[in-house]
Amino acid sequence: MTVEKILAKLVSFPVLGGESNLSIIQWIQEYIESYNVKVNLVFNEKEQKASLHCRIGPEVDGGVILSGHTDVVPVVGQKWETDPFLLTDKNDGNLYGRGSCDMKGFIACCLVALPEMVKANLKKPIYLAFSYDEEIGCLAGSELAAAIKNFYKETPKYAIIGEPSLMEPIVGQKGIYILETYVQGSEGHSSRIKQEVSAIHESMRLILWLENKMNQLITDQQFDDRFHPPHSTIHIGLVKGGIAPNIIADKAHFFWDLRTIPMDDVNSILAEFETYCKEREQELKNICSDFSIKTVENHPVVPHLDTKDDADVVDLIKSISGKSKLNTVSYASEAGQFADEGFQSVICGPGSIAQAHRANEFIAKEQLEKGVEMLRKLIQKSSL
Ligand SMILES: [Zn+2]
Repeated sequence: MTVEKILAKLVSFPVLGGESNLSIIQWIQEYIESYNVKVNLVFNEKEQKASLHCRIGPEVDGGVILSGHTDVVPVVGQKWETDPFLLTDKNDGNLYGRGSCDMKGFIACCLVALPEMVKANLKKPIYLAFSYDEEIGCLAGSELAAAIKNFYKETPKYAIIGEPSLMEPIVGQKGIYILETYVQGSEGHSSRIKQEVSAIHESMRLILWLENKMNQLITDQQFDDRFHPPHSTIHIGLVKGGIAPNIIADKAHFFWDLRTIPMDDVNSILAEFETYCKEREQELKNICSDFSIKTVENHPVVPHLDTKDDADVVDLIKSISGKSKLNTVSYASEAGQFADEGFQSVICGPGSIAQAHRANEFIAKEQLEKGVEMLRKLIQKSSL
């Protein structure tokens, strides 16, 4: 099968983040097993979704994990000129379809290179690791990285996350934390605002505190110039609460995210916020005895990626990608999750992030070729 045929097959599975991915994972499993490589699945609790991992080559330390996600983002409301789940060659050098670039293109490169990996006399192993639900917050990456670490007797050393980067190595990524804060106040007639505690008014105070915290980081020049913007950000994206202008809201909540540069410690920021919340609770208990503020982390953490320029994986990726400039990104990926398990990690894959998540997503054929070329070089290097 050619890389284009494999990609067409992968694109034909319309598996969105959050949905069961068993159809696509089963197809990939059968493909891999047809080359006599044993596949291992890591199911979610309800067994409707699975990540997959396998090893090609010997049971020795020092191998490379190639990581990708099998889910894609929705197409509803987007103006597609072609069927998004039918890979279309418009004869302009690009292949169009949802996921062509983010990131089934890289998975197709891995699968087309698989027979060569199997045939080569690998001295160091290569692992394939494909996850689900990446697009809704990297829900399966940590578990997959941990499963690989625990399953194999030997220890892989590197992870290459093939997110679209135009084949340029990416060594840094902000950490992403999604939080929900719930405020419990007391209801009443709006005229009694000084005798009750409005959950909305208190929420606004907390939101202002968070914005001030971000501004303070900027004033303190907590900058990492590899990122745009160079500082950590705090953003409140959703606020709910209240019924009517003349009713004091007893409940309110807000969703927010914190995107941290590697030098900022998320735990200390959250601890400071918690201290402020405790102060507010103390102060308002006299007016409203069950006043409370609760912040919960219902979304898995996407840890930052901070691979140092002199790490071995940087030499490796430079030599196989042919690109020496190191970049950073502000989007989420599973790279930090693999790094947290001790694998030296970089992002490097075919296609441009500029084409991801939008209508008429495409990957240039030339990028697919470059992706395969990189994997061929990896096979060569792993055979020495
Ligand atoms: Zn992606």
